[in-house]
Amino acid sequence: MTEYPIEIVAPDITPYRSGNTDIPYVTMLDSGQPGPHAVITALVHGNELSGAWALIRLHELGIQPIRGRLSLAFVNVGAYRRFDPGNPKAARYLDQDFNRLWDPITLAGRARSRELERARQLRPLIESADYLLDLHSMQQPAEPLLLCGLAPKGEALARAMGYPRLIVADGGHRNGARMRDFGAFADPAAGPTAMLVECGQHWAKASIEVAILTCRQFLQALAMVPPAALDRLAPAPSCPPQQLIQVTDAMTVQAGPFRFARSLKGLDVIPKAGTLIAFDGAKPVTTPYDDCVLIMPSPRLAPGLTAVRLGRFVD
Ligand SMILES: [Zn+2]
Repeated sequence: MTEYPIEIVAPDITPYRSGNTDIPYVTMLDSGQPGPHAVITALVHGNELSGAWALIRLHELGIQPIRGRLSLAFVNVGAYRRFDPGNPKAARYLDQDFNRLWDPITLAGRARSRELERARQLRPLIESADYLLDLHSMQQPAEPLLLCGLAPKGEALARAMGYPRLIVADGGHRNGARMRDFGAFADPAAGPTAMLVECGQHWAKASIEVAILTCRQFLQALAMVPPAALDRLAPAPSCPPQQLIQVTDAMTVQAGPFRFARSLKGLDVIPKAGTLIAFDGAKPVTTPYDDCVLIMPSPRLAPGLTAVRLGRFVD
């Protein structure tokens, strides 16, 4: 069971299985004109439904790029097929987290899993992307977050999108690389740029609108879709000034068992340095500096996993 209501129905994505590429569940819309290759991905985690609805909206409206190519990909379809509203967390992945295996050695290695198989299938698509928007959602209810990576190009694209309000600059997790940090995306000197958006709580209806608006702003920033078509997708969001959170630490569970010493929401600001936030085994875990932002505390607290990320607001 889950502590949050399931307000979203899992959509039928089988109409998109054949797509128009040699990769199942990937559709490439080609303008026939020069321009970038933009890729929007959903269901990297099989229980995060809002992104799937956003891709379906793009499909149903017949959104077409006027330059370059736009690819729409449903990613961990195998896990998604397992989605059961009675046990929604179980559909996050089948064998391993799809979003922790994106380094060349792992992808080219001998290890096998259903997620690795799918990642190897998708790798040419991801490597051909000039821009990637990866649609996710969060375990805890929280304001949406746009994760732009550590390179300046990421922050620049996040600012050009202008939405959502909160931008997080972080380098990922110690237990494996995310798709958004793969290859050229993490290289400050290379052009390709990736965004990951956390659209709110996994099963909150409002997360669908956030996913759609983020797609809208991504396509607008890239000037790939005419304004009238973007307005049919969704009216432009009202965008208050964005704020950047610089992640300083990913707090990884060491010995365990790890337990939070207070109940945390998705995004808490702890005013005083040295405030107790958790225990890792018997060891107290405290905040390292004043006004420390706790980003996305995780319910999965096994050794080696990220318990929570720490950051600070940057002016
Ligand atoms: Zn996710």
